[in-house]
Amino acid sequence: MKKMLRRFLRLFSLGLIVLIGIVAIKTITNSSRQIPAASIEQVAIPEAAYSRLGASVTIPSVSKEGWIDTMAFQQLDTFLHQNYPLADSLLEELQVVPYSKVFKWPGKNSNLLPVLLSGHLDVVPVDTQQQWVHPPFSGTIADDFIWGRGTMDDKVTVLGILEAVEQLLREGYQPNRSLYFAFGHDEEIGGKSGAQQIAEYFKEQGLFFEYAMDEGYLIIEEGMSGLSRPLALVGIAEKGYVSLRLTAQLEEGGHSSMPSGTTAIGLLSKAVVKLEKNPFPAQINGATKSLFEYASPEMSFPYNALFSNLWLTSGLLKNILSGDGATSALIRTTTAPTMLEAGIKDNVLPTDASVVVNFRVLPGETIESVIDQVRKIINDDRILVEESGFGNPGNPSPISPTDSLGFNLIQRSIGEVFPDAVICPALAIVMTDGRFYSGVSKGVYRFLPMMISRAELGRIHGANERVSKENYAQAIRFYRRLIENSTR
Ligand SMILES: [Zn+2]
Repeated sequence: MKKMLRRFLRLFSLGLIVLIGIVAIKTITNSSRQIPAASIEQVAIPEAAYSRLGASVTIPSVSKEGWIDTMAFQQLDTFLHQNYPLADSLLEELQVVPYSKVFKWPGKNSNLLPVLLSGHLDVVPVDTQQQWVHPPFSGTIADDFIWGRGTMDDKVTVLGILEAVEQLLREGYQPNRSLYFAFGHDEEIGGKSGAQQIAEYFKEQGLFFEYAMDEGYLIIEEGMSGLSRPLALVGIAEKGYVSLRLTAQLEEGGHSSMPSGTTAIGLLSKAVVKLEKNPFPAQINGATKSLFEYASPEMSFPYNALFSNLWLTSGLLKNILSGDGATSALIRTTTAPTMLEAGIKDNVLPTDASVVVNFRVLPGETIESVIDQVRKIINDDRILVEESGFGNPGNPSPISPTDSLGFNLIQRSIGEVFPDAVICPALAIVMTDGRFYSGVSKGVYRFLPMMISRAELGRIHGANERVSKENYAQAIRFYRRLIENSTR
């Protein structure tokens, strides 16, 4: 018996040594995927650029479900033409859809595929409950920040691009490759009348882009455990979107003084609990796997070992990542009940009760497969599961390549302007207009050149949205660099 135990222990320690050996080798040989970046001179940004961003914020170009402030969009249109006179006179403006704006900067070499940079003009409304330090549409410049709704999302992109273009035009720059700029007016409500139509127009024109870049991700100062440098995330895919309505329907309601064992509200509640207790399966693949491949060689021990050995650690990682809403969203289709409806009177049992549940669909799954899975989890014929009609539902985007010219140009330009950043591809967990351009481009990348802390993320769509002057200056420098690198 003792002999056997000794033999087992010997075998076990041998196995452990081999395992540690493999983990060590995998960790050490996991080489960096960062590319060298040239050191470039920092272009001066005039004070007037900040004032222009502030002034654009005073035009409340709000969109909300089924409504846009058309007056504000007309005003914003005039504002852009007046404030970027060279772009106004030297770029071609294409009339595609009202309120959205599309420009072309023709290149010298028509053999090169054009590049598309996009952003959006609309902003989300302001919740009256929110407490703002400076009024949300004042565009106040104070404490080295430009304050107001839209500064981060997404006027920083639109005006940042136009500032870069205006500078280059003033210097007489002529691109080799044609550039297109598309600024939608309804991104915040699904992009149906804006970017979706613009993408259709590009298709009709037979246009195909070398790459397209839209907002989506940014640079997070304290990016990931084990990384001491800021993390620049470039979205190479985005999740799909669908809101389902679950309805519990009974033949009879009745008086609340004589309830039977089954009520519509009770049935529906059970269904919601089942959905919450049975999250969609966690998967580390696609864009999230790429994120770990790019980030892990830059990490310190033991994180580098953990993320370089997914063959061994993926189970453990799935558990850790599932513990936090933000990281859980990277590895699964998420389930979020958002609207509940039942009953009209306190003493009447309703015959039906319904809930709207919002799902963000992981690439690899589809709206269809989500509906199937939801029906399977609930497993109750008395609950009707159907699409709710809210939002602009769509399947997950395809995954854009990282071994492409587009990704390389973006990576290089980020490295030149933000030399400290670790640049990684990632899965965008929110929707952007970018998804519409995947049919007309070799790749769609989602990146906003703004470096902020995790705590600042809550200002997007929240109160006290603001961008620092330094951040805005860097954004302009990045767009300038990207245009130069892409069109030389
Ligand atoms: Zn946005």
